[in-house]
Amino acid sequence: MNTTPEIWFLTGSQHLYGPAALKQVAANAEVIATALDADASIPAKIVFKPIVTTPDEIRAACIEASASSSCAGLITWMHTFSPAKMWIGGLSRLTKPICHLHTQFNRDIPWGEIDMNFMNLNQSAHGGREYGHMLTRMRISRRVIVGHWEDKKVRAQLADWAAVAAGWAAMQSLKVVRFGDNMRQVSVTEGDKVEAEQVFGISVNTHGVGDLVAVVNEAFDKDVDALCAEYADTYELVPELAKGGDRHDSLREAARIELGLRRFLEDGGYGAYADTFEDLHGLVQLPGLPTQRLMADGYGFGAEGDWKHAALVHVIKVMGAAKGGGASFMEDYTYHFDPAGARCLGSHMLEICPTIADAKPRCEIHPLGIGGKADPVRLVFNASTGPAINVSLVDLGNRFRMIVNAVESVKIPQPMPKLPVARVLWDAKPDLATAAEAWIQAGGAHHTAFSFDVDVEQVEMLAEMAGVECVVIDESTAMRSFKQDLRVGEVYYGIRGL
Ligand code: MN
Repeated sequence: MNTTPEIWFLTGSQHLYGPAALKQVAANAEVIATALDADASIPAKIVFKPIVTTPDEIRAACIEASASSSCAGLITWMHTFSPAKMWIGGLSRLTKPICHLHTQFNRDIPWGEIDMNFMNLNQSAHGGREYGHMLTRMRISRRVIVGHWEDKKVRAQLADWAAVAAGWAAMQSLKVVRFGDNMRQVSVTEGDKVEAEQVFGISVNTHGVGDLVAVVNEAFDKDVDALCAEYADTYELVPELAKGGDRHDSLREAARIELGLRRFLEDGGYGAYADTFEDLHGLVQLPGLPTQRLMADGYGFGAEGDWKHAALVHVIKVMGAAKGGGASFMEDYTYHFDPAGARCLGSHMLEICPTIADAKPRCEIHPLGIGGKADPVRLVFNASTGPAINVSLVDLGNRFRMIVNAVESVKIPQPMPKLPVARVLWDAKPDLATAAEAWIQAGGAHHTAFSFDVDVEQVEMLAEMAGVECVVIDESTAMRSFKQDLRVGEVYYGIRGL
């Protein structure tokens, strides 16, 4: 759904060292930018920009970056000293995220050759500090990456940051459609949509479900036929849903809903949507299979009117797109309090994304106890295993908070033949008791975005770009300091929000 974003590579210097030195600065910067652009692990186009050496050049470059719809962020590097008062005019106008790459062109000190010319040309060690001081003084949050630009670890950090910048760019123009309102009486799925647009750029608007039904009803039978054939090729269809099976009409109804939903989202330019089982007038089934497939194509989804997690699922999918392990809407469902290692079973009543499946999903039909509609078709599978995260976005009344928990998706030890939904079993870090206590103290939702491709640090980066609080629950979490972090957050983010 998204084109590869551009990251602009901007190099600071000054005129103190003469034109020959500046020529070398420009040449070296272009070598680095070209090498980063050629690195397939970095999910962005790295665009070399002419070096900047005066306040006017810096201001012009920052204004150009801010105005560019293709620029998702800036990598800035100080090849030499670049007196930081020169950067005030530009930085105060910059609206894009910054990654300060604190590197230098040469990896090693040329012991036998080093002289004062070399020293004048390669001043990142102090030039980067002068620049960093200004960003700190201006209270501009940014990523700082230290190390040689050819180092694998530096490249991996750049890749992770660029992925977050792409997610942030997507978030700022994200349109979310809600079919129906919030599930009655539910708190955490509610929130301030005006504030969300101001803080994150996401615009959340509603359509009566009847508007969707009208589009669903326009789907052509031949398209329904073709989509049912695709289902049969892609999934293990249970016989009753297959062509000629007793319940094939239900599969056709799911296909009709998918065609309508997809067209509605495409026509409206929406990247995410929420629905609710309490408002399905005119829809024959609660969308299960259709929503699972739309999520697999990158759309964000939130159930029960949960527009915040719909948005978050889309953004997390953009952030993880280059890694390909999958992400889904998720809910903490039920616990396994085994003294040998407590686990949480994550699932939803239907809507888990098949990008996290460990094998070809089965396509099944079962009754749904709520909503009062026809039995919905859904994909059923176990999730892959490995390190993952659950991330949540909540509205605390005066501000938003992100909560992220590192988890390990583990093998499900026994078959669950009677469970008609997709599921994940995870080991929450540092352990379920601490993770759940911390999550509850932080006010985290029961809905989350689950991802194998985005890590805790990237969620922290996203929150920094948005200027919102992020609390982390991982291996190092201890309740005493965690609660203190929440108290500090109340003050720091409470003041910032005024
Ligand atoms: Mn739910």
